[in-house]
Amino acid sequence: MTSSGPASLALHVALPVPLPHGFDYAVPTGAAVDSGWIGCRVRVPLGPRQMIGVVVDVRPVPDTQALRRIEARLDATPILGGELLRSLTWAAQYYQHPLGEVLATALPAWFRRRRQAPRRTPTAFELTTVGRAALAARPPRAGCAAAGLQLALTEGARPRSAVATSPAAIRTLRLWLRQGWIAECEAPVADTVASRGPELNAAQRNAIDHIQSGAGFRTVVLDGVTGSGKTEVYLRLIAAELAAGRQSLVLVPEIGLTPQLLERLESRLGVPVGVLHSGLAAGARAGVWQDAAQGRLRVVLGTRSAVFVPLRDPGLIVIDEEHDSSFKQQDGFRYHARDLALVRAQAMGIPIVLGSATPALETLANVAQGRYGRMRLPERAGGARPPAVQVLDLCGQALPDGLLERTRAALRACLARGEQALVFRNQRGYAPVLLCHDCGWFPACPRCSTRATDARALTWHRVAGRMRCHHCGLGQSAPTNCAQCGSLALAATGFGTQRLEQTLAQAFPEARIVRADADSARGPGGLSALLDPLAEGGPALLVGTQMLAKGHDLPRLTLAVVLGVDAALMAADFRAPERFAQLLVQVSGRVGRSDRAGQVLIQTHQARHPLLRQILDGGYEAFATTELELRRAANLPPFAAQALLRAEARSAEVVGNYLDAAVAAFDADQPADPTRNPVARVGPLPAPQPRRAGYVRGQVLLESPRRADLHARLQLWVPRLHALPSARQVRWSLDVDPIDSI
Ligand code: ADP
Ligand code: ZN
Ligand code: ZN
Repeated sequence: MTSSGPASLALHVALPVPLPHGFDYAVPTGAAVDSGWIGCRVRVPLGPRQMIGVVVDVRPVPDTQALRRIEARLDATPILGGELLRSLTWAAQYYQHPLGEVLATALPAWFRRRRQAPRRTPTAFELTTVGRAALAARPPRAGCAAAGLQLALTEGARPRSAVATSPAAIRTLRLWLRQGWIAECEAPVADTVASRGPELNAAQRNAIDHIQSGAGFRTVVLDGVTGSGKTEVYLRLIAAELAAGRQSLVLVPEIGLTPQLLERLESRLGVPVGVLHSGLAAGARAGVWQDAAQGRLRVVLGTRSAVFVPLRDPGLIVIDEEHDSSFKQQDGFRYHARDLALVRAQAMGIPIVLGSATPALETLANVAQGRYGRMRLPERAGGARPPAVQVLDLCGQALPDGLLERTRAALRACLARGEQALVFRNQRGYAPVLLCHDCGWFPACPRCSTRATDARALTWHRVAGRMRCHHCGLGQSAPTNCAQCGSLALAATGFGTQRLEQTLAQAFPEARIVRADADSARGPGGLSALLDPLAEGGPALLVGTQMLAKGHDLPRLTLAVVLGVDAALMAADFRAPERFAQLLVQVSGRVGRSDRAGQVLIQTHQARHPLLRQILDGGYEAFATTELELRRAANLPPFAAQALLRAEARSAEVVGNYLDAAVAAFDADQPADPTRNPVARVGPLPAPQPRRAGYVRGQVLLESPRRADLHARLQLWVPRLHALPSARQVRWSLDVDPIDSI
């Protein structure tokens, strides 16, 4: 071998391993090296193992003789093609996550294990001549599944999802397929879509005209209260894309919201809608993915991970409830589906619509800077009136099991009228804070709290007996009594939905009680199964978490009781006020009907808290304007970019050693003049929840007013993190744009 010979070409393969780089391989003997490999899966040797990876590049190497060979090419044409591969490569860079793991997250699990494509489930069925004759000769017994199918299919082809509605129907379909009575066919495209919806109001028509004006990429926020007709707008936009031969992707935050919306989309659009969520079997998921990639499915509805679906003829992306934190993946590859969808929409040159009654502050900042358009739907389409809201002060009150006597009385009266009430308690997501039951005082950070609305509570580290500010790092010992009134009644507040359910069952033994939270409502149909029976009416109490604030129809609610708001108001996490405002507006939006206004009761120790007053008096918009100003003054997102390094291990010493080494690695790149690259570091600190499931947890926060500066430092730091010897003793992760620091 001569060293002066021309460089030869190798395939660069991304493998699902936690390493910040890919691996070069030589092509199999006799195969050509060309760009046709890019985006195809290959089986390769790695150490003693075999793995499936994706070719991401063709690049020159000094010597292919030294490389191992690709064992097999699994795709003739790219499975991760053009735009999708480019967007994912961007995401790996942006989130500083290994590309191989990013691609493995995007690809349905099926394709990471199997070579063959899944058997496609037919999109639609139609009766054959044989079938028509046979059914005419011997009609099925009225009322059975076969009779229902016959009725549905006599009018013509029907999408699979419209007829395969029960186990009996599915059995009958299989039988008829075997007998040749029905055949698979292309899904019918209805031509009467527009005529089947309500007459649009002026605001809806405006919004649609605006979104459809112009061509190419643009972002439009559709800002309208619950019931203002946002979904109706999505439907018209999707119908227009269908008519133009283009595909639409709709993302929703919660798996429980898919059945309701699926029904509405399919019945209105008249085409099959592909559904993608974590509750699907691997084969079904891969099938939908592939059908979307090949253009057979024109509409895809899904939760967070559906943002990875390939689209052959993309036309539109819709993110419903865009403010929802479920769009952020909280382990592994920690992407934000809304942000990734924006990048994809831009790469595909298509419009993206962000719908919400309570847009995220990030989103509103982008509106203010003119990057996004905004269209409002100011009124409820159905005519329901806004509820009356009352704040009930808990300070010094008797509080057996967390409910005031006035609250009990209101619940009792609601049930007596034969109506339904919601008792709302969001116990997740807030770090423990201390609170005085007699006056509502709480320990706040003297360095970070500049105004009353901005009081940043210190997090209570119970075991250590310390208070800590997770914004600036300040630490002090936990107080034993209230600094304002001297009371000894300091406690961490709150208890969860399960205990609340018990309390209510004791207080209202006759009442029907439904609890809806992540434990009781599992899977795609879980929430519907719990809530649909309530639509029939009759007195009932509904107990639940934020899951209930997410757009499921609850037409019979006339009272909502909101508990556990103190931790949110006290704002240990700077995003807590935003989340609280969104929840309060969303919960209030579910109460009340056209014939009578509803009632909302809020129990709190912070009855005069400026934040609460502002949301109640000025609404979400006024809140958002003020809150954005506070964030700007405090240099917090969206006016600063953050990244959070988390680490956990069985022993505090191991975590401490690792984080010390990580910080040393960070400081090694510190520019001589730090004002030239102002990336601030907070930590190492214990995490707000310093122990979880037997692990000790710590973190380091990076913050910079300019995203480019932060990313420039991450670019240097992350390879060093991967190389740290102590990294092997801890579980660590880097979270770019973290949405909580719990
Ligand atoms: P959102 O998605 O904002 O909650 P929806 O689109 O679901 O609102 O509309 C709420 C209800 O009002 C639905 O029952 C819908 O059919 C109805 N609706 C929407 N737009 C109109 C309209 N222009 N005229 C009459 N009813 C409408
Ligand atoms: Zn006090
Ligand atoms: Zn502080």
